[in-house]
Amino acid sequence: MIAAPPPYRDELLGSALIRACRHYRMNPQALMQHCLGHNGGSNLLYCRHLPELSKLFNMPAEGLAWRHTTLPFCTAALFEWQEAKVLDELSENSVPSSEATSYLITQRSELKSRMFCLDCVADDLRRAGESFWHRCHHLPLVAVCPIHGLYLVRSSIKIESSVRLLPQDCSGEPVLTGRVAPVLLLHALLAYGALVHRPRRSWVAHIVSGLLRSKDLDTSGVLSPRMASAMRASIPADYWSLNRSAAGGGEGRRWLPMVQSHFTSKYLLLEAVRTTYLDAPGADIRLASASE
Ligand SMILES: [Zn+2]
Repeated sequence: MIAAPPPYRDELLGSALIRACRHYRMNPQALMQHCLGHNGGSNLLYCRHLPELSKLFNMPAEGLAWRHTTLPFCTAALFEWQEAKVLDELSENSVPSSEATSYLITQRSELKSRMFCLDCVADDLRRAGESFWHRCHHLPLVAVCPIHGLYLVRSSIKIESSVRLLPQDCSGEPVLTGRVAPVLLLHALLAYGALVHRPRRSWVAHIVSGLLRSKDLDTSGVLSPRMASAMRASIPADYWSLNRSAAGGGEGRRWLPMVQSHFTSKYLLLEAVRTTYLDAPGADIRLASASE
């Protein structure tokens, strides 16, 4: 089997596959045929057949899953047995069936397009001579790069596309304009933390119980008047049109029952509003380090 260049830190596995295709001047179907004996079932966010891919990249399958997919974020609200099921299914060649694995797939449906950050492209080109698609730019409801604090740029390439383009080849417009809202920056940092630190499974439950304790959320999932007005004041109105799931929560009702792929991200958004806008308005927010 051929050996592909290893993924960069925070690179999506699907992005590493794109670079491997460019490296070997093969189209994605041919590369997958070579590695797997058939032509695929993967895309930028969702990579099946981890055992074969681990041979291609010469890295353990579990390391690929945790460091090069959005798995740590997507499982932050799951129990350990559900997490184990996700890993099992990612290792199989069958069509995934569990609710837990569909988490990764649903995330894909929330994110229609490949996203990038202009400063990350410049940094990656300077450091590595090429850019790549980052995990931290492909999390539901995240609109800001946690490393540079810039609004992300939406490319015209769909997540499902097999086109071999990298961010350096793309143009696009930032998802929002104007000064970056501190709440959205903190939200991106919290989501990045979930990717990098693989929080304990009780992490999201802890956030929810904090919101319930402070009465910013009630048990039927309705936000308090103070939280609803803080959200309106601290988050640009255009943010709610970024995707369907965000629009559904824009008025602050029925947050609690929304146990979907964006479940974690929604609670992180509430936590960001509470800590940045209500508890510590004007506090400095430190950007993430690219080497973290
Ligand atoms: Zn960036």
